[in-house]
Amino acid sequence: MLPNTNTKPVAVLGWPVCHSLSPLIHNVAFRTQGLNRTYLASPVQPDHLAAAIRGLLALGFSGANVTIPHKEAAFRLMDQCSEAAQAIGAVNTIVCKVDEEGHPLLYGDNTDVVGFLTPLWPYVAAFAGKEAVVFGAGGATRAVLYGLLMHLDLYKIRLVVRSPEKAQGLIAAMRPYDPDEKLSIVAWPVAGPVIRAAHLLVNATPKGMYPHIEEPVWGEVADFGVHHTAYDLIYNPVQTRFLREVANAGGNTIGGLEMFIGQAAAAYRQWTEVEMPVEVVREVLDRHFSKESGYTE
Ligand code: NAP
Repeated sequence: MLPNTNTKPVAVLGWPVCHSLSPLIHNVAFRTQGLNRTYLASPVQPDHLAAAIRGLLALGFSGANVTIPHKEAAFRLMDQCSEAAQAIGAVNTIVCKVDEEGHPLLYGDNTDVVGFLTPLWPYVAAFAGKEAVVFGAGGATRAVLYGLLMHLDLYKIRLVVRSPEKAQGLIAAMRPYDPDEKLSIVAWPVAGPVIRAAHLLVNATPKGMYPHIEEPVWGEVADFGVHHTAYDLIYNPVQTRFLREVANAGGNTIGGLEMFIGQAAAAYRQWTEVEMPVEVVREVLDRHFSKESGYTE
């Protein structure tokens, strides 16, 4: 259906947003389900973010996604937030709501948490009492740690980082959700033993992402084994070097597209009150990534 006077818009706000796959997947989902909605990509300069976000209410948007570099600033502009968004201090999803007195309000959520957890649900029992390693301590790691601490009964979670002093702030921010002090920091060069001991390995760095697809996450493939489940947050390429190496060692793998689809589905549900047709979305993404080169810029 062509956009018309009843079309409800949604947008992704970022700077830049030209590489976002969110318009593609949400518009395909709206069209598949016959919903009179449209999803736009809106490049928003940091100085204009507050006006753009308040404008969502004035313009009758259902909400928005928020991407780099606006996730933390958007959090501070919300009227209400989910527990996950408060814990992480960042929002990736805005829902335009109305309060009990009929006043419009901006609700912020961080669906990266539920997106990250979606492919892990089948492993919850298997990981109970086991150790996890998370490579990197940036923005995505916050969602990863909150999800792991709140929903998986792991014994220990080691952050393998190149800047341990920077990661201390993240550990401190997560402390309210880590009463048993499961989180600790391990410097990159000495991480071999904790990698071998862990069952879940999560790559939350850009190591191996297009165009640097041959950059290893961890150089010692002999440290990977059949007991490992490798979860790479990167989805471009879909099959990363890290996933290939752990698969070659006999381990399980989870690609970042699952998280991407999971976070999108959780946002879609809040805007439309219907479930995203995830199989259709997965097919569209498969086609997108299997274009000639196999990679997208
Ligand atoms: P970020 O905030 O820039 O953090 C990146 C982290 O990786 C930082 O801790 C950084 O360390 C570390 N790092 C970068 N290069 C490194 C290197 N060569 N060696 C060791 N550590 C390195 O990025 P982010 O937003 O957390 O995103 C991380 C990854 O997750 C990206 O690949 C992103 O595409 C992916 N992601 C995927 C999804 C999804 O839906 N699948 C969602 C969000 C993010 P320093 O602090 O020392 O610089």
